[in-house]
Amino acid sequence: MHPPSVDALARSISDIDLPQPLLVDAARLAIASGDPESARQQAELLYRSLLGPTINATGVLLHTNLGRAQFGYSQSPRATNLEFDLISGKRGSRSEHAGKLIAKLIGAESAIVVNNCAAAVTLVLAALATDKGVAVSRGELVEIGGGFRVPEIISQSGARLIEVGTTNRTRLQDYASAKEIYDAALLLKVHPANYRITGFTEETSVQQLATLDLPLVVDLGSGLLDEACSWLRDGKPDWLKEEPGARQTLQAGADLVMFSCDKLLGGPQAGIIAGRSDLIAACSAHPLMRAFRAGGLILSALQETAIAYLRRDGDAIPFWKMVQTPLDELEKRANALEVGTLLATNAVAGGGALPGAKIPSFGVMLQGDHAATLRAQNPPIIARVNENTTIIDMRTISEEDDSLVSQALKKCI
Ligand SMILES: *Cc1c(COP(=O)(O)O)cnc(C)c1O
Repeated sequence: MHPPSVDALARSISDIDLPQPLLVDAARLAIASGDPESARQQAELLYRSLLGPTINATGVLLHTNLGRAQFGYSQSPRATNLEFDLISGKRGSRSEHAGKLIAKLIGAESAIVVNNCAAAVTLVLAALATDKGVAVSRGELVEIGGGFRVPEIISQSGARLIEVGTTNRTRLQDYASAKEIYDAALLLKVHPANYRITGFTEETSVQQLATLDLPLVVDLGSGLLDEACSWLRDGKPDWLKEEPGARQTLQAGADLVMFSCDKLLGGPQAGIIAGRSDLIAACSAHPLMRAFRAGGLILSALQETAIAYLRRDGDAIPFWKMVQTPLDELEKRANALEVGTLLATNAVAGGGALPGAKIPSFGVMLQGDHAATLRAQNPPIIARVNENTTIIDMRTISEEDDSLVSQALKKCI
């Protein structure tokens, strides 16, 4: 018997929601493997390689592999005033909307939006310190993840790294020497967002560094806008207590702060540079700004997030809604799944933010490793597996998905 033609085989699985060329790929793969019957399975594998929604049941709020902050957004397919001033009818700036609102939220003179925090740091160093010395504490010459290493970013941007102090202790005098002896032109402070040095340690505060009369730029990374957390019903939660706010860092004397928008800000992937308007203008005028600037879709989504903050409406930002869901509500929801054993859990911020900080949560536990079954659901459910038990954490699941999760878990037992 002849194997079926690629076209006939592709047609036979056309009920799968994939465009024809991908169904043909699946048919080809199936025939090449000597098992034409597997075409449907191949198509399903292709389908599952596409970008799509998942249900995050891991308890890791900012899961890097699951797109960090959960976020939804849609916009009408119309032209926008991205770079158009509706008052004057002349060309406008793409920093006038989202950037301006973020600046207002943190009390900065000015702010610009780039693709991510790595781009923000690179741009600041390139615009303010090319061919100049940048002083950084040896305790802050870190790798953030995904290949972002502070010493490499400094050399990439054409600046000269001046290492200051020691791994565990750096004093103001160390920075002062860097200025006097090694001719530092810029001070860079990097918030240890994803690690902790404990024990015999000493770091120099932003307030102290600001006395040195050099531009001071702070890579905050995770981007808590304001330590007051006025957008949360109960204010700042305990587990955030050591996280510096962008507003407070500027108040303490930083000239610029840089941070991500898809970590503690709870917005889309982007990076912010905010602070002194003359330094922001220098960043905006640098040729790298053209390469790093955020697109209209991102700026529009970020503006929506900024407006939610201005309204002090934490529940309008999925990340903060999940953060402030009361524990007893999570317990009730876990119970209502009607499957597995109820379990008190600890959710975490994740995304390289707040290592060690535990956020009390509730979930359910199932005997055995059901990760693959749960991933095979539509949408896929991503769970935590620990010593042959599967754990579902309610903190990172939005309530609308509870019944899907319940149905999927019932299939596992
Ligand atoms: C996460 C982080 C970055 C990188 O941010 P991206 O938005 O992922 O580029 C840089 N610096 C610090 C301190 C961070 O925590």
